Amino acid sequence: MLRNKVPFIFLFAALHLLIITELPAQTPKLIKTIVVDAGHGGDRDPGATGQYENSLRSKEKDVTLAISLKLVDELKKQLPGVKIVPTRTTDIYQSPTEKARIANEVKGDLFLCIHADSGPLKTGKRQVGTRMVTRYKITYTGKGRRRKKHKEAYEVEEPVYEYFKMPLTRSGTSVWIFAAHKTSDKLKAIMGGDENFEIEAGGVDSLETAFDFSSPQGKIIAAIYAKRYQERSDRLATMVNEEVENTGRAALGVNQRQVGIWVLQATNMPAILVETGFINNPEDERYINSEQGQQELAEAITKAVKRYKAQVEGLNNTAPQPVVSNDKKPTASGNAAVDSRPVKDIKTINVKNKKISVDLYDDGDVDNDIVSVYFNGASLVSKKPLSTNPVSLTLNIEPGKNNELILFAENLGNIPPNTALMIINDGSSRHEVRLSADLKNNAEVRFELKN
Ligand SMILES: [Zn+2]
Repeated sequence: MLRNKVPFIFLFAALHLLIITELPAQTPKLIKTIVVDAGHGGDRDPGATGQYENSLRSKEKDVTLAISLKLVDELKKQLPGVKIVPTRTTDIYQSPTEKARIANEVKGDLFLCIHADSGPLKTGKRQVGTRMVTRYKITYTGKGRRRKKHKEAYEVEEPVYEYFKMPLTRSGTSVWIFAAHKTSDKLKAIMGGDENFEIEAGGVDSLETAFDFSSPQGKIIAAIYAKRYQERSDRLATMVNEEVENTGRAALGVNQRQVGIWVLQATNMPAILVETGFINNPEDERYINSEQGQQELAEAITKAVKRYKAQVEGLNNTAPQPVVSNDKKPTASGNAAVDSRPVKDIKTINVKNKKISVDLYDDGDVDNDIVSVYFNGASLVSKKPLSTNPVSLTLNIEPGKNNELILFAENLGNIPPNTALMIINDGSSRHEVRLSADLKNNAEVRFELKN
């Protein structure tokens, strides 16, 4: 959780980002410096603490430090030549402003924030025994002046209760990025200068100070972030989620929000925040406090960073997935024109249920991208334009089949290539996938059923 109130970080971010607006658009660049932030710190900001009955009473600041130190070691080991900069290596207090300043000062190419999740705990009540208490029965005799009160004692047994904090049932790792996506209604409202626009406050890791995104600086921050870092942050976040899922741990997906993760957009680099586990869930608290759990998370994040680095640096133009090794493969849509185009952009999504819903949007500017979609050799969508209103599909994942969804670009739109944002929901988790197709290559998502 991230709870500090830092009023002037926004101004800091605004000034900082105002300067970078003057810079030319980024070309593919090398990942030379990675900043690892152990969330919270010091007595002033312990973050969330284990509070349920029989909890380890662990503090988020200690968990984030332990995982971050292991992550720093692992990154150094696996990415020699890359400078790895921790924001802190001891239990010291740092405001989010300070954390962002460190990251910006060393000119980080990536900012990885390590946190642990929590949530409000319910209070439980249980009977722990009984006790005898004395009560009195009051009776009256006589009338008028002769009326008399009689008090008769008797014993009753009554239950004795104990109150306790119940643990959270929710568990797993989630990855957060700053939400500035074009298809977000919020951003549209922000960019359109909607005066009545409100950003919800509260929630996990949220700062209670509301930031005015309709201010000139706010618009600039949102616009720059959307243009420059959101896609990359999302790409890295997706990879971290996949690598966490590969460990067998519950991966809760990539989430976006505008509130509460200011430190992410105050940094002039792609940034993600990993909520490693729920400190008030018994299994999670033990996992994130264990050497083995901490090491597993550090290794999963490192694997994702390595994949991201390879991709951004152009060593591999596709999103490399362990299960898919061929760069360009033919498709099997059942349509000759479609199959004549190889797949360039291929992604693999692990789903937990057979029935999944898919919403397709235009990714980026709505520029009249027209697509056809095929799934397991059948045509699902024929020549439909993508917009901010979704094209909704329901897919039945069949074990034993390839479960390939092929995106075929019917045109390039006004701004090539033809790009789609897919929101996939399998009933228990949500995935966001960005696909890009053109007149030479198809894009594909392969679904794998994993229970
Ligand atoms: Zn936190």
